[in-house]
Amino acid sequence: MMTPEEFRRLGHEAVDWIADYHSGVFKGPVMPRVQPGDILNTLEPTPPLQGEPGEALLRDFKEKIVPGLTHWNDPRFMGYFPCNNSLPSVLGEILTAGIGVNTFSWLTSPAGTELEILVMRWLGQLLDLPWQGVLQDTASTATLCALLSAREHAAPVNAQGSKALSHALVCYVSDQGHSSILKAARIAGIGDENVRMVPSRKGTHDVDVDALSAAMMADVAANRVPFFVTASVGTTATTAVDDVVALSAVCKKHGAWLHVDAALAGSAAILPEMRWLMAGVADADSFVFNPHKWLFTNFDCTAYFCKDPDKLKAALALTPEYLKTSSDGVAENFRDWGIPLGRRFRALKLWFVLRSFGVDGLQEKLRLHLAMAKECAARVEAHPRLTLAAPVRLNTVTFFLESDAATKLFHETLNATGEVFLTHARVEERYVIRVSFGQTRSDWSTLESLWALIEQVLKQSPFTPVV
Ligand code: PLP
Repeated sequence: MMTPEEFRRLGHEAVDWIADYHSGVFKGPVMPRVQPGDILNTLEPTPPLQGEPGEALLRDFKEKIVPGLTHWNDPRFMGYFPCNNSLPSVLGEILTAGIGVNTFSWLTSPAGTELEILVMRWLGQLLDLPWQGVLQDTASTATLCALLSAREHAAPVNAQGSKALSHALVCYVSDQGHSSILKAARIAGIGDENVRMVPSRKGTHDVDVDALSAAMMADVAANRVPFFVTASVGTTATTAVDDVVALSAVCKKHGAWLHVDAALAGSAAILPEMRWLMAGVADADSFVFNPHKWLFTNFDCTAYFCKDPDKLKAALALTPEYLKTSSDGVAENFRDWGIPLGRRFRALKLWFVLRSFGVDGLQEKLRLHLAMAKECAARVEAHPRLTLAAPVRLNTVTFFLESDAATKLFHETLNATGEVFLTHARVEERYVIRVSFGQTRSDWSTLESLWALIEQVLKQSPFTPVV
C-alpha cells in the first residue's frame, strides 16, 4: 500500500505534471489519433496480484492514458461546450479527494454543507437571483429534480404511484431544448408522448411562445394537465435564448412549473451587460447552470436554484432511522435536495475559483470569450465561402459552406489536422460547424490560429472553388 511518504513524493511529481500541462507544455493533437480498442489493448487485462510501486502508476498514466485523451481544456478544443477547469479549481479537487468527506447531512460534514450554502449565495448575488440553491453533479440531474418537484406538486405520485395520475401530465420544451429534458420525462414516467417539442422560430431559434401556449390549450381541452415547461437560455446548438418573461406568463395561466435551463449561458449572466439573460427568471420556479461549463470549475459542478426548496424536498426528502441526526430541522441536509444519498464536497473548488479569480477576473475571461466569438462571427460574415448559421449572442459561432457535403468534409479535414477540435449541429436542416470559445487558457492567439487553419484548409482541394 502507498505510504504517506511515497504519496508525498509522487504527489509532488503529479502536481508538477499538472502545472506543466496547464502551462501549455502539451503540444500533441487535441483529439487523439486512436481507434476504438487501441488504449484497452495496451493495458493489463487482469488486476495485479501484488501491489505495484506508485512510480508504475504515474508512468502508465503518462505513457498509456495521456496519449488516448481528448484534451478538453486545451485552447484548441472548441467542440461541444467548454468543460472548464483552472488551477484553483484543481487545488480544491485535490483537497476534496484528500479529505474524502461525504456531504449528505449537515452532520456528515458541517463545513461542507455551510460552504455550499455560502457559494450558492455568492452565485445568487452574482446573478441577481435571491433564491436558495444546491450543488449537483450535472444539469441533467438538476432538470430531473425540477421535473420531479413539479410532478409531485401536480399529483402525489410518491405516495400513490401512477394511481395519482387521473389525467396525463404534459411537459413542454422547444425543439432546440437539450436531450436531458426528454430523458428526465422518461425517467419520471411522463413518457415521450407527453412531451411537446414545440417548434422554435426560424432565424432566431428561440421557442415560439404562441405555439407553446396553443399546445397547452389543446392539452387542457383534451383533459391533460400541462405541468412543466423548460425554457432554454442558451440552447446547445446555437445558444438561442427563449423569452422567459413570456413563458412565465403562459405558465402562470396553467399553474405549470417553469424551469430555466441555462447550463452554459448562466455563467455569462454574471456580466452586468449580459444580465438580460436572467430576464423573467425571478418569475420562474427553478434555474440551473453549470460552473463546470464556463466558470472555470472542474467537472462536476452544477448550480441548481429553486424558488421554493420545500417543493424540491417534498419530492426528494426521505429520512430512514439510520439517517436521523440531532441537527435535523435546524440545519440543512442536502441529500434532501437531490437524488443520490452520497454527495461530493463540490463547494470547495468553486469557493477557491471564486476567490482566486475574483469577480473581476471571472468577468474579464468571459468578456474575452464573448469578444472572440464576435470577432470570429465578423470574419465568417466577411468571408466569401462561409455563412453564419445563427446570430452570435454568446460564445458559439455556427457556420456552413455551399453544401452539407462540403461543410462536413471541411469539418472533418479541420479536425484531422489535430490542431483544432470542432463539433457540428443541424440548424434548419443544415449541417453546420460549431466553434465554441471559452477555455480558461484561450486568448486572441487561439482565434488567430483557428482562422489561419480555416484559411489554409479552404485553399486545399476539394475546397477550392471550381472555376
Ligand atoms: N442543457 C444544455 C442547454 C446543455 O447544453 C447541456 C450540455 O450540453 C446540458 C443541459 C446537459 O449538461 P450536463 O452534462 O451537466 O447534464
